[in-house]
Amino acid sequence: MTDSLRIERDVIHADVVIVGGGPAGLACGVHLLGACRERGVSPGTVMVVDKGACSGAHVLSGAILQPEPFKELLTQQEYARLPLGTAVATERFVLLGARHSLSAPWVPAPLSSRGWPMTSLSDLTEQLARIYESRGGEIYHDTPVGGLLLEEGRVIGVRLTDRGRSRDGTPRPGYQPGADVLARVVVVAEGAAGPLADRLLSEGILKPAGCWSSYGLGIKELVRVPARSENQGVCVHTVGYPLSRKATGGGFIYGLDEDTLAVGLVVGLDYDSPWLEPHTLFRQFKRHRWVRRWIEGGEVIGYGAKVVPEGGLPAVPQLAGAGVLLVGDAAGLVDPVRIKGVHLGVRSGMLAAEVIAECLAAGDFSSPRLQEYETRLKRSAEWQAAARFRKARSWFGLGLVPAMAATGLSWVTRGWGPPLLRKSRPDRWLQPQPRPPTGTAASRGNMDGPRGVDLDIASDLYFSGTRHSEQQPSHISIRDPEVCATKCVPRYGAPCTRFCPAKVYELDAQTGTIRLQVENCLHCRTCRLKCPEENIRWEVPEAGGPRYRRM
Ligand code: SF4
Ligand code: SF4
Repeated sequence: MTDSLRIERDVIHADVVIVGGGPAGLACGVHLLGACRERGVSPGTVMVVDKGACSGAHVLSGAILQPEPFKELLTQQEYARLPLGTAVATERFVLLGARHSLSAPWVPAPLSSRGWPMTSLSDLTEQLARIYESRGGEIYHDTPVGGLLLEEGRVIGVRLTDRGRSRDGTPRPGYQPGADVLARVVVVAEGAAGPLADRLLSEGILKPAGCWSSYGLGIKELVRVPARSENQGVCVHTVGYPLSRKATGGGFIYGLDEDTLAVGLVVGLDYDSPWLEPHTLFRQFKRHRWVRRWIEGGEVIGYGAKVVPEGGLPAVPQLAGAGVLLVGDAAGLVDPVRIKGVHLGVRSGMLAAEVIAECLAAGDFSSPRLQEYETRLKRSAEWQAAARFRKARSWFGLGLVPAMAATGLSWVTRGWGPPLLRKSRPDRWLQPQPRPPTGTAASRGNMDGPRGVDLDIASDLYFSGTRHSEQQPSHISIRDPEVCATKCVPRYGAPCTRFCPAKVYELDAQTGTIRLQVENCLHCRTCRLKCPEENIRWEVPEAGGPRYRRM
């Protein structure tokens, strides 16, 4: 096939292409092979293409696992091979003030995770990939997808990213144009806020949801601490400090074993102060007296960040269109009250697989047949459970008490109340305001914190394993530098220099231009959502990214 630049591209013919080797994409692959076998149908060529260097390299989550969908997806022997850790034994729900803390006497049943296993989602994904391959599936790592192939309003495949271009985009020796992979159906499992889902919505192949979605930026560290028996199986969720009505979210501490804690903070990206720095808030969280006693004497051994879709079911777009299905975080399938989405992602992958198996059997991939996926997902137990909280998240911006009341009312009324407060603007909206008189949040970051765990971004990044070759074209670019210099810097002071958890953006104060350290990028996609002028183009790079382990 030849594109507009007359580049000869290889053409690969497949039946099913799954873009993204996270839990939802792999669940789709694993279940598709099983469902085809059960029906006596040939699955044809099923390909999972993943941008990570190995399975799980770009996957990050809390994570406490709701295990039911995995038990249905896997055989008993396969399930036993999953790297599931300690079950949640002790739960705490804690309200943090600037100096004090208040523990709730109990954790309400709908929010409880007691008995569920803790896991590392990156390790679990690696094992899921092994199971998929043991069933005969093909997975291609280090294989980013650059875009969708469309024909007459239908998705007909994907174009893989070119390899071997130099920094300025010209071909280097050994240059390989990305192949065009033609498929009967493409399953988009690229994670939250991805470029393919955006294209599907902008091309009108999928209809957007009726309201703006909300996202949170989750920042997580893995901390090795002196061994204490009470650490194992503890699950702490916090609200309050250092967040406020103007920046919603919450913190967590999970005791993976006696000497390893997962510590994180999710900051709602609907905050309106251009001066807010999520990473500094994370440091302030760890310095809080109640939190620091857990991590005192510890050292960071892992770091990562990703955006979490928090709009809930009202913000989920159409999930099936001509030649395409949307699954997992790419579809916004996260319960925003419990911040849990893995179970929904796996269920969505499984149901997509069932529908694809039926399409293969019938030799019919028409839109009405694919639409059956969305219908079945909405009938699933996981969707129905999330629906009980479907309007609650919209109240979180009003403060802690309305948020708690809305969550309770949602539960009692099975999702009918309270009324949905429609979001009037996207997350990128910021309120111009002067720099805080005490200096930026970053300057407050010099207070004493627990040694070994109070790291700045540069030190934290070392533990993410992220790297990108400096020879390849930059996967991040500023659309119009004039907009930065003349609009954003005077009005908002270049918020990209603060919202990015990898310090990719640096302001040259003299010229008002932004310098990019793209090799630091964690692929969290915050910049796709929070630049107030929509002036950042973030594309999937030719290669590279984080190398998460145990995250
Ligand atoms: Fe502002 Fe976006 Fe330019 Fe950064 S890239 S200075 S956030 S317009
Ligand atoms: Fe996240 Fe964008 Fe920063 Fe990369 S550059 S770490 S995607 S905010």
